[in-house]
Amino acid sequence: MRTFRNFIFLVICLFVMFLNYQLLSNVLYPPLFYLITFEVMLLSLMLADLLLFWGQHQEITALKREVDRQRLTISDYQVESKLLTTLRDMMEHFRSDYSLEETLEKIVDSVASHFHQETVILQLFGEKFYRVVRGNEVEVTQEVLEEVVIRGHPVLINNTGSFSEYQRFNQQKIQSMIIAPLVRSRDVIGLLGVFSGQPDRRFTSRDLDLLRMVIAPTCLIIENTELFEKTRILAITDSLTQVYNRGHFERVFSQLFSDFHRRNEPVSLAMCDIDHFKNYNDTNGHQAGDKVLREIATILKKGTKGSDIVARYGGEEFVIIFPQTTKANAIKICEDLRLKVQQYPFLNEDFQPEKDLTLSFGVASFPEDATSPQELLKKADEALYQAKNRGRNQVVAQ
Ligand code: GH3
Ligand code: MG
Ligand code: MG
Repeated sequence: MRTFRNFIFLVICLFVMFLNYQLLSNVLYPPLFYLITFEVMLLSLMLADLLLFWGQHQEITALKREVDRQRLTISDYQVESKLLTTLRDMMEHFRSDYSLEETLEKIVDSVASHFHQETVILQLFGEKFYRVVRGNEVEVTQEVLEEVVIRGHPVLINNTGSFSEYQRFNQQKIQSMIIAPLVRSRDVIGLLGVFSGQPDRRFTSRDLDLLRMVIAPTCLIIENTELFEKTRILAITDSLTQVYNRGHFERVFSQLFSDFHRRNEPVSLAMCDIDHFKNYNDTNGHQAGDKVLREIATILKKGTKGSDIVARYGGEEFVIIFPQTTKANAIKICEDLRLKVQQYPFLNEDFQPEKDLTLSFGVASFPEDATSPQELLKKADEALYQAKNRGRNQVVAQ
């Protein structure tokens, strides 16, 4: 266009030069000729300018369109890069040994950093019921829960006010939402929802796709964490009695002992052993003996505080760590436990030498009896040995 305008300008210049030449050579035209020539030149210039302006306008529109397209591409890249960061964060949690609750909190944080103006809710159903909320609390109605569970696929609703079944959300000032189920081997175990109260927020299928991309690893993480927790619990639990096993006791005991040693606070240890248990097994069989072990473990667990640690040390021997407990108090608790066992109606206990199935205890404490965990264990064992020697069914302290 600019070339065309320049061309018109050149033609006009040449024509003016020609007129000048004519004037210099005394060739005169009538005044009307000059007037019309001047108007034609003006019109040509205006036409050329108009054409130039129109061309430039077209160019600007095309450029604007291109800028908008690039802007959209950039925002897409930003969303994708945020999502990738979210997924990377999630994968890091996947590798770490966080508890299920901590992992879910972190997943919701990651999703909320993506949907930062919305409320994000993750909820697990059933016995593992758990709920994490980022943003304002939203009550997910029973009907919607059922819809998500039965259909097993996500719900995307914009403008909740237009649907009678979503009025309850509209009353909570929720305009649009996406609720997606968390599925583990075909069972819906929970949901992940994003809720917006902004009138102009419209969730798109792209938002849904993004949420779906997060949901697949979330389900895997939940499954993995649950398995991990089960394995961890199995690894520290005695399979017969369901109290801690010896390995866990040894790890915890040496750790606790050094903590209490450093703080110079009391810690007591009791070792207990079933009296004449060989006789019980021989008379009633191994299975009945196993039942007694389970029953005694239950008595010990129920008769102690949550902060006390009951473990099966081996065979028919148990150990109990009493943190922040003096020897006098530990003796009292053990005496109580001994009585509980004595009074418990074990199957066929009449055939025991004392017509009763009983437990002997040895107690030792820090700081008076030992300066190391090994020494404290040895002292408790020696006290137990004395309890056996003195006639069993008693608590002996060092
Ligand atoms: P004491 O009063 O001196 O402790 O006599 P005791 O018979 O209890 O002691 P002993 O060490 O002679 O026998 C321990 C018995 O504990 C032998 C074994 O059959 C039984 N026992 C050890 N572990 C288990 C177990 O896991 N299940 C069953 N049923 N019995 C066990
Ligand atoms: Mg024994
Ligand atoms: Mg015994």
